[in-house]
Amino acid sequence: MKNLWNDADAEKMVAGYAKKGVGRDLALRVYTTRLLGGEPRLVLHGGGNTSCKTKATDLVGDEWDVLCVKGSGWDMAVIEPQGLPAVKMGALLKARTLTTLSDEDMVALQRSNLIDPASPNPSVETLLHAFLPHKFVDHTHSTAILAIVDQEDSKALVKTVFGSKMGYVPYIKPGFDLAKVAAEVFDADPSVEGLILDKHGIFTFGDDAKQAYDRMIHYVNVAEDYVARNGKPRAAKAALPAKLARPADIAPTLRGAVAVARGEGRFDRMISDFRTSDAIVDFINSAKIADYAGRGVSTPDLSIRIKTGPMAVPAPDADKLGDYKAVIRGHVEAFAKDYRAYFETNDALDDVKRTMLDPMPRLTLVPGLGMFGHGRTLKDAKIASDVGEMWIEAVRGAEAVGNFQPLSKADLFPLEYWSLEQAKLASNKPKPLTGQVVLITGGAGAIGAATAKLFAANGAHAVIVDLDPAKAAEAAKAAGNNSIGVGADITNPAEVRAAFDKAVAVYGGVDILVSNAGAAWEGRIGELDDATLRKSFELNFFAHQSAAQNAVRIMLEQGTGGVLLFNTSKQAINPGPKFGAYGIPKAATLFLSRQYALDYGAYGIRSNAVNADRIRSGLLTDAMIASRSTARGVSEKEYMSGNLLGQEVTADDVAQAFLHQALAERTTADVTTVDGGNIAAALR
Ligand SMILES: [Zn+2]
Repeated sequence: MKNLWNDADAEKMVAGYAKKGVGRDLALRVYTTRLLGGEPRLVLHGGGNTSCKTKATDLVGDEWDVLCVKGSGWDMAVIEPQGLPAVKMGALLKARTLTTLSDEDMVALQRSNLIDPASPNPSVETLLHAFLPHKFVDHTHSTAILAIVDQEDSKALVKTVFGSKMGYVPYIKPGFDLAKVAAEVFDADPSVEGLILDKHGIFTFGDDAKQAYDRMIHYVNVAEDYVARNGKPRAAKAALPAKLARPADIAPTLRGAVAVARGEGRFDRMISDFRTSDAIVDFINSAKIADYAGRGVSTPDLSIRIKTGPMAVPAPDADKLGDYKAVIRGHVEAFAKDYRAYFETNDALDDVKRTMLDPMPRLTLVPGLGMFGHGRTLKDAKIASDVGEMWIEAVRGAEAVGNFQPLSKADLFPLEYWSLEQAKLASNKPKPLTGQVVLITGGAGAIGAATAKLFAANGAHAVIVDLDPAKAAEAAKAAGNNSIGVGADITNPAEVRAAFDKAVAVYGGVDILVSNAGAAWEGRIGELDDATLRKSFELNFFAHQSAAQNAVRIMLEQGTGGVLLFNTSKQAINPGPKFGAYGIPKAATLFLSRQYALDYGAYGIRSNAVNADRIRSGLLTDAMIASRSTARGVSEKEYMSGNLLGQEVTADDVAQAFLHQALAERTTADVTTVDGGNIAAALR
């Protein structure tokens, strides 16, 4: 691992922060914290923290000795001084005289001694930083260090690798008890340059930022070198099928299997992030991969991300895909059963009231292909994949120098169910469509873009399909929530298939289709040429059918139901003069919606239609509005609000109707009218 310290960069940061009133100590603390945080082999999604002991002045001008320590919720790679809240040292040091201190009291003590009460919660490892006398303290969960400590006889190996330069701290759950024991280990030999925490990670310290950082990189390199020099031959590879299935062939089935059934056809769905590389595949093709996965997480705080560890499934045979669905479901059921047993066994050991988290895996290893991270959002799914890559590194190293033996699951339990983490989870309420994927055709148009925005605001990830890829990408950006744009001509079935494949590749599947794209052609029906009518049927009927077929194919693989929503039109109910080329295929699409409701209701797939009228959009442009209102001798405003309510109907109103249909769990074969009231077009 490369030491990235650079004098010029460090001084530049000191000078930059000096202008903002931030002192040298804290500026350098920010500098090396970012260096550590930018390296996933050291720090990953919250797994590490840093501190420095300095002085801070409060609002009335009193100066205090403080510990500036990483605050929870901050990413070390991009930390700012306010991410290292200042806590008064006096109270922290006094806590060492206590015999016990609950987690809740520890947090209260830390918070009540903040210089700025608006600061984030100081790290759970704050007391450990405080009890060590050094000015700068760095802590990481380095994968190379984990390779050394995730062993049965890790104490002896730590001695072999690091000699007497590093203190050894047995495993204790982070908090007050660990801080006290770590301080005792240091006091027993103050010549050490750092501490190795069994099954957990490494602390280094120094009189200045550079010394603490240099020591971190040095001891990580000592561990890396040891693993490189002493690596024994790897375990044999498992036999793979002659012809492997593709990730897209199994992703929807896997995504459906890890969804949490809430009963009565309701599911909490997950997003799946597929990740692969030569290094990933090389490792998970090991004949022992299921054994490794079963042993657990490489450092305990990973349990927040991937629970008790990954789930390994067999390699999928392209010629036996039909059977593979049951194989996946069987593995997920077994994982969930083990997880329930883990919860029940450990929960019964005391009187603490806990709520079991869902028992589904967050990381699936598929030999031959790669791995899927699962999470309620794409961000969480990607974090699970990131964590998976570092788990692989640590296990590979541990197996090279011995046998990977991480923290036992009994010891892991108190950390996964740490009361403060549970409180955080309980306050993190999902949105109505969290975990769901919506694919919207005509997604860059007025109605499509408004619908994408509204669905994304309600938690869904949107796949915005439009003829123009640039506009699709723009609409995806406007919708937010990690939505994507895909360019496709939806009258071409191969391009429709490709758009759905993209949804599967990015999110693992699709739950809602908003089949929205359309265009109008005019002409009296008796004189209309066949080509125009057929062209309209291609877009206003067959493209809906093609999108719905793809959606249903994926929904059936997932086995978690789904929703098809069609944009029909007032024309489907109430024809307008010379508008047959548009209205007739739209009427067919209205019945298409009912046919899907009929044929797939038993699979939990609902199908509804919205018939909207007179919406300002690509179909009814400002120029058309001007010419039609002039022709009728009314103002544009009168023309647009010529309905029973006397109010213009907008794309946002149509989006609301689609959202309503998506959320109305017992509504199928429905038509929702969004036209401000038109009695001639009212459904009977
Ligand atoms: Zn830690």
